[in-house]
Amino acid sequence: MLLLILIYTLLPSTLLPSPEHLLEQSLSQYSKNISFNYRIIENKLGHYSKAWQTKEFIHSTKVNFSENKVLVFDEVKDGKVYKSQEYFDDDLYYKIPHGKEKHVSVSEKDRIEFIKHSSIYSPVLVLKYLLKNKKQIKKRADDSYHVFYLNHNNGRISVKIDKRTNLVKYIYCTSYDSFYGNVRAKTIYHDYNIASDFCFPRKITQEKLGIKTFESLVSLGEGSAKIKLPFNYKMGGETEKIKEEIKYKKYSKNIHFLILVNSDSRVLIAEFDKHLLLIGAPHNSEIGEQIIQKCNDLFPKKPIKYFSFGHHHPHYLGGVRSLIYNGTEIITLGQNKKYIEQIASFSHSLNPDRLHKSPKEIKFIVFKDSLRISDDEFTCGIYKIGDLSNHTSDYLIYYFPNEKMLFQEDGLWIRKGIGDLGINPRTRGIYDGIKKWYLDVGEITQAWPLSSHFKTELKMDELEALNKK
Ligand SMILES: [Zn+2]
Repeated sequence: MLLLILIYTLLPSTLLPSPEHLLEQSLSQYSKNISFNYRIIENKLGHYSKAWQTKEFIHSTKVNFSENKVLVFDEVKDGKVYKSQEYFDDDLYYKIPHGKEKHVSVSEKDRIEFIKHSSIYSPVLVLKYLLKNKKQIKKRADDSYHVFYLNHNNGRISVKIDKRTNLVKYIYCTSYDSFYGNVRAKTIYHDYNIASDFCFPRKITQEKLGIKTFESLVSLGEGSAKIKLPFNYKMGGETEKIKEEIKYKKYSKNIHFLILVNSDSRVLIAEFDKHLLLIGAPHNSEIGEQIIQKCNDLFPKKPIKYFSFGHHHPHYLGGVRSLIYNGTEIITLGQNKKYIEQIASFSHSLNPDRLHKSPKEIKFIVFKDSLRISDDEFTCGIYKIGDLSNHTSDYLIYYFPNEKMLFQEDGLWIRKGIGDLGINPRTRGIYDGIKKWYLDVGEITQAWPLSSHFKTELKMDELEALNKK
């Protein structure tokens, strides 16, 4: 045996099995014409009360695999049942999302993302994709696994094939997210059924961002369902990234708004004697950079000394990496400090922002319940209302005593022109927060959304009247 290993390791590499051969050998163990049923537990990140909080969804899924196409029928319960359909082949991808009647426009990039996502059903599409791009495959030495990977413009796909069984044990797919940076999904194939003439894993799990995002239990199904594509169906082109359009609006001598047209929201600039406080920076570093640039243009002599966000959702915090790079002090509650450190530490190598290229220490100002920032004439008070907001555990409101104005992010849900629908729990949260801190408010303003049928400015009298109903 030792002699055999020695001969094997001394063989010229041209005589060793090629990646193509090994991938084909692995693929041949999975049936190409088969249907499976899945019971999938999904833990989904969302805009919930705390950072990293997830919500559990149970999916009932059928997937039909055939030589050249894959059909996915998914049902997920969230109050009522929402259905979706997906069709995939070598050239096309077609999708009717959950709860929709008609298909949506998808691009080639979406087709590739489907291949990555399909790893929660089976390793077959990823194996086929690697084989199709065999010239670009690279391999990495490993004692227990054949490790092959492929870089593509939106990330990396790699596969670890068990050397003993030639079956896939792990698939890693990296994609770019403008908030989280490089996100690597690790899919693990457990408990292979290898008694019959083909193999399949009875359980598949996936982890992403430290969360067990999917756990899928697999059983054999029947393949009778069909998806009929519309006549002359074509996929759409890649959507171009739209640059944020920023407009300026003065509120008072010391308070200024930047209106972010595409994000449908506004951020507040509090102008002090020698510096600025910025409240909110939506979505990502690119928008963060644009906001910083706009502040520098409008107030060339006043640096953005402080940045604060009213709660941890990406719509208000997403640009924080740019502000850290800018040397701005990040004002936050203790409960969010670790989260900001994580956001700052994530790799953005697939689309490097300035913080990725040149990491900076974070300057924090951590507070517990309230904080005042003032100069001789102008004051901003920051107050935690937390769970009282009926939205997030870290919710802040900003009060400007000179103007008697209260700024907050997404707590006002009063329909324009209709005051008699009563008060929404989140609106009541803002009301209770104002009373808790004994704030003498004249007007409340909202960061998001701006263009909907909800009011974005509300007089305190109106809120008092609604609260009495
Ligand atoms: Zn929110």
